[in-house]
Amino acid sequence: MEAVRDALNRPLRDLRISLTDRCNFRCQYCMPKEIFGPGYAFLPFSEVLTAEEILRTVRILQSLGVSKVRLTGGEPLLRRDILSIVEGLSQMNLEEIALTTNGTLLPRLAPALKEKGLTRVTVSLDALDDATFQTINGVGYPVAQVLEAIEAAAKAGLHPVKINAVIQKGVNEHAVLDLAGYFRHTPHVLRFIEYMDVGTTNGWRMEAVVTAKEIFEMIHQKWPLQPLPPRRPGEVARRFRYQDGAGEIGVIASVTQPFCRGCNRLRLSADGQLFLCLFASQGFPLKKLLREGASDEAIRESLRALWQGRDDRYSELRSVMPPKPRPEMHYLGG
Ligand code: SAM
Ligand code: SF4
Ligand code: SF4
Repeated sequence: MEAVRDALNRPLRDLRISLTDRCNFRCQYCMPKEIFGPGYAFLPFSEVLTAEEILRTVRILQSLGVSKVRLTGGEPLLRRDILSIVEGLSQMNLEEIALTTNGTLLPRLAPALKEKGLTRVTVSLDALDDATFQTINGVGYPVAQVLEAIEAAAKAGLHPVKINAVIQKGVNEHAVLDLAGYFRHTPHVLRFIEYMDVGTTNGWRMEAVVTAKEIFEMIHQKWPLQPLPPRRPGEVARRFRYQDGAGEIGVIASVTQPFCRGCNRLRLSADGQLFLCLFASQGFPLKKLLREGASDEAIRESLRALWQGRDDRYSELRSVMPPKPRPEMHYLGG
């Protein structure tokens, strides 16, 4: 089936679904606890898409080209119906059903997720020492338990496990070599992500970004690296292998080397809005159509037109764009 193409000729392929805007962490760069405190008004459950609504949306989008789905949030494993969502997706013959998690509930859920058809898991871990990691995650969660979650996922057959680390200047630069050293000689794939200006609550500044180039240099000086070719068009991570054969890493240079030209991602927020870009200030109100009785065909045609009109490329234009309001990552789906 031919995927629908946008105004810059980019096909629709990847769908990221935020299953909930809630989370049991308060990472400084995503949901700072000063703002997301006990009184914070998360989405009422009646506004969050049900499993049936999510599965119907994916079915419609699959007919427009979507072949990969990533479940994210917020913390996607907080959804009580996570297993039935994965099971429903696995009946659709998608190329990939992936999930990004902080790992807290993974040891318990990994075998069932694998059994229901999850194909890949990414676990976020920003440092290897408790002093740094517990400050970043905002709730004092220990490193050892995340490492345990990674091993539980691998043991359940969800390998290779990807590890995401966001690096911020003056916060966790030392974690680059700590994490690289720890995951060398393992089958897990560590990926460093440049700190991004998503949302408006994290106080992002360009000076706080440790660039992909700096991350590469830090590792390359200690353990020489060589580039690997992209496995597919639109791949966001630049991949490298250790020259001594100790495995592979990825660096995602969202800020300093934007990859908008190959961006084939659509995002579905927890409350059923479709966003054409991580930095779009407005979403398309899909839930309204779903709940007002529109037919699959009518929804498909609206979504086809939506994607065909897409010309977003925020990261390429970041330095020349005036600041405007934009949704938070935990709501939109990281
Ligand atoms: N709670 C899950 C987790 O942390 O893995 C899934 C959602 S989280 C929003 C998805 C990914 O986005 C995580 O790897 C997180 O580190 C990353 N992320 C969140 N805020 C970010 C920011 N400002 N810049 C770069 N990455 C960010
Ligand atoms: Fe929660 Fe993930 Fe955001 Fe951290 S990055 S606050 S774990 S949603
Ligand atoms: Fe895609 Fe928008 Fe990110 Fe560019 S800035 S890569 S268009 S999500």
